[in-house]
Amino acid sequence: MSVSHALFARRLSRASVAGLALLACAPYPRDSLPLLEEPGRAAVATTNGRNASMLYVARVDPGVIVIDLGWRGAESALRGALRRLGASERDVVAVFLTHSHRDHIGAWRAVSRAPFYVAAPEVDLLLGAAEHRGWVPRLADRMRRARGPRAGELELRPFADDTSFVFGRDTVRAFVVPGHTAGSAAYLVRGVLFAGDAVSHTSAGRLRLAKARFSDDADLARRSLGRLLAGLAAYDVRVVCTAHARCARFDTALRERLSTSDRGRTP
Ligand SMILES: [Zn+2]
Repeated sequence: MSVSHALFARRLSRASVAGLALLACAPYPRDSLPLLEEPGRAAVATTNGRNASMLYVARVDPGVIVIDLGWRGAESALRGALRRLGASERDVVAVFLTHSHRDHIGAWRAVSRAPFYVAAPEVDLLLGAAEHRGWVPRLADRMRRARGPRAGELELRPFADDTSFVFGRDTVRAFVVPGHTAGSAAYLVRGVLFAGDAVSHTSAGRLRLAKARFSDDADLARRSLGRLLAGLAAYDVRVVCTAHARCARFDTALRERLSTSDRGRTP
């Protein structure tokens, strides 16, 4: 076995163990999701069982906006969430992606008529023209690449810097937070920060910095989170949610814990 094959096998084994540990440790997140629900106005759904990936849908004046698109079973989860707003895929006027890992884009076909908003460095990753660098996602893609969108299949509206998008009375504030992936983004909507995987959680469910083995650049992720926390001071943020459906009130203790998170260490 060559050195590179031995390394691959060792990493594969570690990835399997890490994946199993993640599934075994992750408690159900449902206790935190009601923080986001607004009957008739906003709903959440999760896909993929215990290692949940979250979708969020919100009714805005022009239609419905969606944040992230889940993984296995995502299309039915999305339709279910939209039904709770009295809406369907045809009502979706914008899709915001926190990043392009396969477990957050599952329902892309169902809403492919809507414009997709992503941070500019994420475009090639989303379209399969570049590889994620985090070693677990990279191995997963090499073992079995999910069929993501290709160039020309989506109307992409990339943004290069922090910016805002107005939908009638609602504003979606987008923050670029590279590190977990090259073009990771976080979105602030109605006081809820959707942080994607720029924020992860411990086995006990406490929010922490992005996990290094799933991330392109853990040091950059840490710096981006610090910058994001500083930028949020200008806004009213009630709740922070990860893309894996862990939400917590954004209080002083959480801000302190996130700002002192360090790579590979449980805060
Ligand atoms: Zn991710």
